Amino acid sequence: MAVLVTGGAGYIGSHTVAALLERGEDIVVVDSLQQGHRSAVLGGKLYVGDLRDADFLEGVFAENDIDAVIHFAANSLVGESMKDPGKYYHNNVYGTLCLLEAMNRHQVGKIVFSSTAATYGEPENVPIGEHDRTLPTNAYGETKLAMEKMMKWFDIAHGIKYISLRYFNAAGAHESGRIGEDHQPETHLIPIVLQAALGQRPHISVFGEDYDTPDGTCIRDYIHVSDLAEAHVLAVGRLRGGAESAVYNLGNGQGFSVKQVIDIAREVTGRDIPSVVEPRRSGDPAVLVASSERARTELGWNPTRNKLEDIILSAWKWHSSNPQGYDD
Ligand code: NAD
Ligand code: UDP
Repeated sequence: MAVLVTGGAGYIGSHTVAALLERGEDIVVVDSLQQGHRSAVLGGKLYVGDLRDADFLEGVFAENDIDAVIHFAANSLVGESMKDPGKYYHNNVYGTLCLLEAMNRHQVGKIVFSSTAATYGEPENVPIGEHDRTLPTNAYGETKLAMEKMMKWFDIAHGIKYISLRYFNAAGAHESGRIGEDHQPETHLIPIVLQAALGQRPHISVFGEDYDTPDGTCIRDYIHVSDLAEAHVLAVGRLRGGAESAVYNLGNGQGFSVKQVIDIAREVTGRDIPSVVEPRRSGDPAVLVASSERARTELGWNPTRNKLEDIILSAWKWHSSNPQGYDD
């Protein structure tokens, strides 16, 4: 039996493929390479194509003995989603519909889903629990919530069990140094800060310092990508064991402001990283910090790479040895 990993050539997907390969799993990756990289896929069978291409997807399910799916493929940029929500509904929501329909046709009854802290919007409580209100402040988060709700109805109607993992902010790189974060364009804070450290950007722009936080900049919960990858391995195991559908937050439980991230990156890299305060980025909640107690108790998840210094150091090793990212 194989695990189908959609978006497995992307950042978090490729680290999860690496973790599954370490467990001896058979892997089938589907990726359009609109963002991902062929060389990020360290093993398994790679099909290059789009989830929304029904014939293509049908072929993948017909050719492989798939028992579980991990669904990373999506567009995921908050700012872009505010300017072009249609792109997000089409790729994220319609893409997930195509996938669930193919799973139903082929009687594949297990899916682990990449959800996000952006489903919550401005939180009611800090840290955020899974039962807290979901009221996204951006179109990206709204599409992820719609995808979660779609999976709920496919469970009720067709018995497809899902585990939705609401990640907070993924960061860092694989300890082997072989894979890391390479988005084009890059919009995430930590890689941009490190590009500024490398002199590839003149400075880091701080998007707003008038938030209701101690230093006025947004607070996020950064979690190492390899710890996220481990949670997917556990989630597949739990579904294979017959678990019911569930939603889990995945974060560190500790928040860092944009300015704190920049300060830690200065210490880790030993580089002067110039910063410039700019207006707020549309759609950003002020504070997003997770309670991941449920994932710890029910999934048995035990993130071990918790220090932000170490997370940034692992990212720095990748960026400084691969300043142009992947070769392709
Ligand atoms: P990524 O862009 O690196 O990976 C997504 C991959 O999906 C890419 O390789 C892309 O080519 C592929 N893809 C996109 N649309 C596709 C389609 N229609 N058909 C086939 N392939 C397609 O993103 P990432 O940072 O690795 O994030 C992975 C998932 O995790 C996304 O769903 C994202 O919403 C979610 N997420 C990420 C973060 C984060 O901090 N990076 C936080 C919360 C949630
Ligand atoms: N951010 C910033 N400058 C940048 C990129 C990001 O100030 O060049 C801020 C952004 O506004 C947010 C935080 O850093 O408050 C984390 O943003 P990122 O895009 O990394 O992740 P998100 O929380 O949007 O998923």
